[in-house]
Amino acid sequence: MRLRFAPSPTGYLHIGNARTAVLNYLLARKYGATYVLRVEDTDMERSTRESEASILDDLRWLGIRWNEGPDAGGDFGPYRQSERFDIYKKYTDVLLAEKKAYHCYCSQDELEAMRREASEAGRAFVYPGKCRRLGDTERAALEAQGRKPTVRFLVPDDETVVINDHIKGRVVFESGNIGGDFIIVRSDGVPVYNYIVIIDDTLMKITHVVRGEDHLPNTPKQVLIARALGLPVPEYAHLSLVLGSDRSKLSKRHGITSVDVYRREGYLADALVNYLAMLGWAAESGEEILGVEEIARQIEMGNLARSAAVFDFQKLRWMNGMYIRACDLGKITDLFIPHLSDAGYDVSGLDRSWLERVIDAVRGNCEVLSDVPRHAALFLDEIMEPDAEASAMLEEPDSKAVIAEAYRLITGELNETTCAAELVGRIKKNTGMKGKKLFMPVRAMLTGSLHGPELDVTVPILGYEKCRKRIEYIHGRFAG
Ligand code: GLU
Repeated sequence: MRLRFAPSPTGYLHIGNARTAVLNYLLARKYGATYVLRVEDTDMERSTRESEASILDDLRWLGIRWNEGPDAGGDFGPYRQSERFDIYKKYTDVLLAEKKAYHCYCSQDELEAMRREASEAGRAFVYPGKCRRLGDTERAALEAQGRKPTVRFLVPDDETVVINDHIKGRVVFESGNIGGDFIIVRSDGVPVYNYIVIIDDTLMKITHVVRGEDHLPNTPKQVLIARALGLPVPEYAHLSLVLGSDRSKLSKRHGITSVDVYRREGYLADALVNYLAMLGWAAESGEEILGVEEIARQIEMGNLARSAAVFDFQKLRWMNGMYIRACDLGKITDLFIPHLSDAGYDVSGLDRSWLERVIDAVRGNCEVLSDVPRHAALFLDEIMEPDAEASAMLEEPDSKAVIAEAYRLITGELNETTCAAELVGRIKKNTGMKGKKLFMPVRAMLTGSLHGPELDVTVPILGYEKCRKRIEYIHGRFAG
């Protein structure tokens, strides 16, 4: 079994295409299939090597591995379509020689006029086959005018194409309804997608084409080409669409659509892969948080989703938070560090095990890695400026006694070894405050906020020095 992902390097890796790549990868894992990466770069104006590099990089980041591709090599290369023009040319010559394709000299303007006429008459435009039967003299005359021909595929009349799609079921197309003879080679000699995709799928011995449903209308064209060339046709599975919350095609308007941006914002590759898989497949048990190995065990060509999936950005965020919580502490600390550096924290001099305690205390509040500076500031900053709520609490008359006693303790009897265990208990005992009247001002003094991790987590991580600095600061501002 051989599967493939065939990106066009005309921009970033779109989240919808990433889903196709992920599902192909999971199916390849499931069936022990060979995974082929083919770069479809024949749109010369829009394709770039930078885009190809960034797409491959994003795929690798997602953890997707392929067996054959432009970088990996393989027996069926080259794996960039722009390097296969001589192969396509041979097939074009065969089609022309067998009169299954023909040169078309209609100019852009003439085609435009035909299109306009069709639209004014309320018909869909179908190329009327004007150049189908040109004689040699007519052709010579058109060539003499300097016209550069395209090559059109001669769509046979009355042929039925039946596709037994693994997802859509039986889909029937009539050759008369696919828009007429279509261009397979442009006038500049560049062959078009619908033509070469099937040549490559066959030459690369792809057994199953798993791709987006938007390609379903292209499939009869590809099958007719294969038939005309006597090439075998792969099996197909067209994945249901991914929609935005308003059920229109997913676009930037709905939220982030670039894999690269998810990566920079601090989504975990495993979480993104998990979520994307769920946009095309569901576990029978209803479980949603599943690792690659487990999905690969359960997924099947026959149990991919039949209905359109709505991309739920909130749910992806939530799922990412679950992965952040479940991740190995050392690994998640490494992943958080660049986000702390971006926010201006130099963590290189910090004790690693202390930093891991900080991360462990705050990761529960982070849905994406870039949330971390906001929450870790509580431990990393020297002083915490109290917010409005905390200031109001510190102004309360009952708080004054708490501040004064905290100050007395921290500058007197408490030290490195006793601070963590005794600070809160002694304030309680010596002031008689308890419950909210005790915890709220202490929390406000030490963290600048009334919310956040529990004091018995916070105080030991902060340690004596930071507690002292913060209490002294608050005492200076609020004690009087
Ligand atoms: N290169 C096509 C695209 O990016 C994919 C073609 C296919 O899967 O057949 O949409």
